[in-house]
Amino acid sequence: MSNYHIKQFEEYFQVYKKSVNQPEQFWEEIAEEHFVWRKKWSNVLTWDFTKPEIKWFESAQLNITENCLDRHLRARGNKTAILFEPNDPNEQAEHITYTQLHERVCKFANVLKEKGIEKGDRVCIYLPMIPELAISVLACARIGAIHSVIFAGFSSTALSTRINDCDAKMVITSDGSYRGAKTIDLKGIVDEALEDCPNIESVLVAKRINSTIDMKEGRDYWLQPLLDKAHQVCDAEIMDAEDPLFILYTSGSTGKPKGMMHTSAGYMVYSAYTFKNVFQYRDDDVYWCTADIGWITGHSYIVYGPLANGATTVMFEGVPSYPDFGRFWQIVEKHKVNQFYTAPTAIRALAKQGTELVEKYDLSSLKVLGTVGEPINEEAWHWYNENIGKKKSPIVDTWWQTETGGIMITPIPYVTPTKPTYATLPFIGIQPALMDENGKEIKGNQVEGRLCIKFPWPGIARTIWGNHQRYKDTYFSAFENMYFSGDGALRDEVGYYRITGRVDDVIIVSGHNLGTAPIEDAINEHQAVAESAIVGFPHDVKGNALYGYVTLKDSGESRNHDNLRKEINQLITDRIGPIAKLEKIQFTNGLPKTRSGKIMRRILRKIASNETDQLGDTSTLLNPEVVESIIENRL
Ligand code: ATP
Ligand code: MG
Repeated sequence: MSNYHIKQFEEYFQVYKKSVNQPEQFWEEIAEEHFVWRKKWSNVLTWDFTKPEIKWFESAQLNITENCLDRHLRARGNKTAILFEPNDPNEQAEHITYTQLHERVCKFANVLKEKGIEKGDRVCIYLPMIPELAISVLACARIGAIHSVIFAGFSSTALSTRINDCDAKMVITSDGSYRGAKTIDLKGIVDEALEDCPNIESVLVAKRINSTIDMKEGRDYWLQPLLDKAHQVCDAEIMDAEDPLFILYTSGSTGKPKGMMHTSAGYMVYSAYTFKNVFQYRDDDVYWCTADIGWITGHSYIVYGPLANGATTVMFEGVPSYPDFGRFWQIVEKHKVNQFYTAPTAIRALAKQGTELVEKYDLSSLKVLGTVGEPINEEAWHWYNENIGKKKSPIVDTWWQTETGGIMITPIPYVTPTKPTYATLPFIGIQPALMDENGKEIKGNQVEGRLCIKFPWPGIARTIWGNHQRYKDTYFSAFENMYFSGDGALRDEVGYYRITGRVDDVIIVSGHNLGTAPIEDAINEHQAVAESAIVGFPHDVKGNALYGYVTLKDSGESRNHDNLRKEINQLITDRIGPIAKLEKIQFTNGLPKTRSGKIMRRILRKIASNETDQLGDTSTLLNPEVVESIIENRL
């Protein structure tokens, strides 16, 4: 039996049991047998959730890039590490081998040093999904600089806020980026942001779109000439297990983004171990996660997890709709992708297009499908299963967060029987608990509550950068000695978990707690509905009533809206009960989303309650125009 690679359901239960009964011994064995260390730990785990303080593999020394690069050189030097697929399908894909990646990271690391970056300094990376993004992340890790990747779709204000929050010294960017048929002037956005960032000393600029840009003397440097001159050897900085590896801001679905800080050893062990099992990665597989490296999914499951396992990881620069909505499937066919990991928002957008463009391509290489980011509704799950997986690739519905560093609740493909809309069982080492409003744990099955975790796992964030109090208040204060996720969940008769939505979004109607996901799920079953979101608003009799925002597959003009409303409420009544019927249903052209693709219900809630002057932090909002049109057409 290998604890590192679980292949059978029985094995899952055995390994899980061990990971819970003897967590320290369990993680010590994983760490010892599957990673390289410069020095071993004195203590596997020290923790206190009341402070909170969590330390894994204390006093061990390592460098994560030696685990992601150097150790593979001998056996896998010529294997493709990063497979770069450009925005334009006519531009050639680039296969970067482990040997080449190692050399490019070392050169980049030497450039960082030459520009004065030292261990512990913060470096903000604002790059499109081109190889330099992954390389600069690894180059920072190589020398112990703390990277903070900022999604290259963010505005200059969002960028400057983050740069100042983590007090970065350097920004790495490019002249511009391609996004479908458009180009974006990234350097212009950086210039604007830096007017408010007095502590930035230098800006490295990669060339991608060959545009003419302003270069500020003494601050801005073209990257390529520096790389050309750089030495190709760069010894890895020896890091302590608990030295910071990166800061990453959350998506901002529930409020002001939080700068989560992750450290070296625990994060490495957890992202690598989850990757291996949740995707059942085998040595010759080609793995593709469609996320951007600007999100935690990209950190853990495009860069660190795959590379620590010596995998081939695809990096896609473009968008699912360019040149047409068949682009994802064309890439799957072209590179014979075996594992495909995406988000419900992408699945719903693609499902809306029908199946013609899916059928054009050979998807027979696929073995595992994944989803992350939001609850996946049942209809989208079936569409994915039938049309993409052809009912033979298990879907892993992976629940986790920026804070958790890696996947927490998930099926293991070919091991755990799946169930639509259920993230199923806790991953190895994860001890979930459902809590009631009074702080008591709800035991047994067929129950619902607030999703907490009782015991630390190696990937947990250690703090919010510069604001430990907020870290404590947000995650460790609601329930004693527990990590509180902010999400609600139910546990079914066999112990499977289903995420029911954010606890902040739970609506109390006539004294009943209603989660958003199951109701939206029922609405989305209507064949005319593409997507929906529900929120509560004050109601004289019920306390709160439900307000639904519904986007139709076609613009819906041909349909009678009143009939549609009746049909939707009938579906809700059938699936959940009359208590969950919607008081108001507004048909919209779209829903407000974060730039990571999640529905921002807190904005919809403000609109439903007619508090449109209090929309809160909108810095991560993708589509302000949709918000305006929703406000205009408010019922
Ligand atoms: P913020 O914390 O700033 O409000 P956010 O929570 O959206 O933003 P992320 O860390 O990117 O930031 O997202 C984590 C959240 O995404 C989870 O707490 C959960 O609500 C949701 N989520 C992720 N995966 C799943 C999943 N498989 N099923 C249901 N929900 C999921
Ligand atoms: Mg969150």
